[in-house]
Amino acid sequence: MYTHQWASGQKVDLPLGKIVCVGRNYVEHAQELNNLIPSEPLIFMKPSTSYQSFKEEIKLDKSLGEHHYEAELALLIGERLDKHHTSPLEAIVGVGLALDLTLRDMQSELKQQGYPWERAKAYDGSCPITPFVAVNTLAALQNLEFRFWQNNQLMQHGNTDLMIFSFAQLLQSISQFCTLMPGDVILTGTPKGVGKLEDKALLSLQLNDQPKFEAQVKLQ
Ligand code: ZN
Repeated sequence: MYTHQWASGQKVDLPLGKIVCVGRNYVEHAQELNNLIPSEPLIFMKPSTSYQSFKEEIKLDKSLGEHHYEAELALLIGERLDKHHTSPLEAIVGVGLALDLTLRDMQSELKQQGYPWERAKAYDGSCPITPFVAVNTLAALQNLEFRFWQNNQLMQHGNTDLMIFSFAQLLQSISQFCTLMPGDVILTGTPKGVGKLEDKALLSLQLNDQPKFEAQVKLQ
């Protein structure tokens, strides 16, 4: 069973909580899916049963359809954060990388009908996630860069500078209506370049110039 890990190899001593996801937080990705640029963050959630470790194999049910990747910065929350909190960034204890996996065909259908997205976004295994780098070992929380490769081909390259809403703005906006608890994770949106996961593909994720994390897709 999945548990949060630190990049140092130790287990994170926090419970598994909810995964709060942000849609359309990079202009060029919103445009590639023909979506409007939001005036406040677009929020949806995944349950903790969506987690799987981004390590060795990423197992996915092929009967669900094509799984599409969205590589995203993932923020690990270490303290309770509600609407009375004044310095939301202090609640972040770790930064990792995650794939917000999406059944894109199903999501398009659901969107068209005005239905919620959970069937396309919240299924088991839909959130492969790397270990977290402790915030106190990062030079700056404001200037992070990440890359995602499929079979050694660079598919996505993101930077906090390209985000529409900053980490502080996202936490502020979410905690106005939904209290964040220790162990919760925020997925902060994906840059352009989303696409389909191929069976047996080697996936790599890298935060800044840290060692890469690698895993192989297994559709079953
Ligand atoms: Zn996403």
